[in-house]
Amino acid sequence: MTIDARGVATPTMAAATDAGTAEAATAVAGATTPEAAESSPTLLAGVDVGGSKIAILLADPALRAVARHVVPTGSGDGVDGVRRIVAALDATLEQVGVTRRDVAAMGIGVPGRVDPEAGTVTLAVNLGWHALPLRDELEAVLGIPVGVENDVRAAAAGLHARGEAGGVDNLAYLAIGTGISAGVVLDGRLFRGPRGLAGEIGHVVLEPNGPACRCGLDGCLEALASGRAIAEAAALRIEQGPGSTIEEPVTARSVYRAAAAGDAVAGRLVERTGRYVARAIHALVMTYDVPRVVLGGGVTRAGTVFLDPVTRGLDELRAASALAREALPVDLVELLPPDADAGAWGGVILARDVATRPARPSPRGVPDGRR
Ligand SMILES: [Zn+2]
Repeated sequence: MTIDARGVATPTMAAATDAGTAEAATAVAGATTPEAAESSPTLLAGVDVGGSKIAILLADPALRAVARHVVPTGSGDGVDGVRRIVAALDATLEQVGVTRRDVAAMGIGVPGRVDPEAGTVTLAVNLGWHALPLRDELEAVLGIPVGVENDVRAAAAGLHARGEAGGVDNLAYLAIGTGISAGVVLDGRLFRGPRGLAGEIGHVVLEPNGPACRCGLDGCLEALASGRAIAEAAALRIEQGPGSTIEEPVTARSVYRAAAAGDAVAGRLVERTGRYVARAIHALVMTYDVPRVVLGGGVTRAGTVFLDPVTRGLDELRAASALAREALPVDLVELLPPDADAGAWGGVILARDVATRPARPSPRGVPDGRR
């Protein structure tokens, strides 16, 4: 049996590998059996909440994928979000003929600021979730222990726990999507900082006179190299001078597609983005001394068209500085494959941590919630 980048057993999971693009649920034969899970809950549910979709990954204790299900995130509030996560979990369980009683724990990665101790989502701007007691709400409905973490931090911890990224104990996971953020693992432990700000490199200023960032500052990395920033910069250039083949609506994806096809406007943008990402990687290494930086997120799915300018940017830094040459070894950067599912696997690892943690007293009599 071979295991692909998501840790999914093949060929039985082959039909589910495109699940990220459409609502889909697929059971994996042979990974576990409902009968085996009947006596005590063993399954781990990882949830990756994105701006447009919620992915649920069900894994067995050996971290083999059992089922995967994707539903739209919707545009509702936190209460609606809880309802959708519950419905998505139930649909996933149904696919493999098990119930909530078979689930040991659930781990959720949320794109925004979270308080992992309190299990709350402080603020997830893109989701419209504010001061949401996500853990308590879900535990009350599901009767399953739940853990909540920032999505990128969860993904970083998951990559480390699963021995991805070369099995190193110090790494940074740099996620470049609509926004930019990093998760940092130091000496085998996720490093959050006392306020959960560690790794928020998206709001480090690279160009003091650059475009306005949502955080209030100008020229943050996120305002220069995120998917949103790439699309906005491209739209501005098309407006100023036509002659580009970038398809409308202009998105980071269409910019990278045009760059791959030789479009000059897109090509310059992609090169510029690569230089900014290279500087961010350099900053992560100089700050945390990580020997491995894993790149993931929507923008990186362009593959080599995305990575080559980053590599050129790193080469320029190496050429200019002996210190940078030492700090940035050739095996430093790793690009996640498009089907890596790092967010959902991060949720699975969080679920495993929650399942093995000493029980937290629950005022709501959680065990009775099991169906
Ligand atoms: Zn900012």
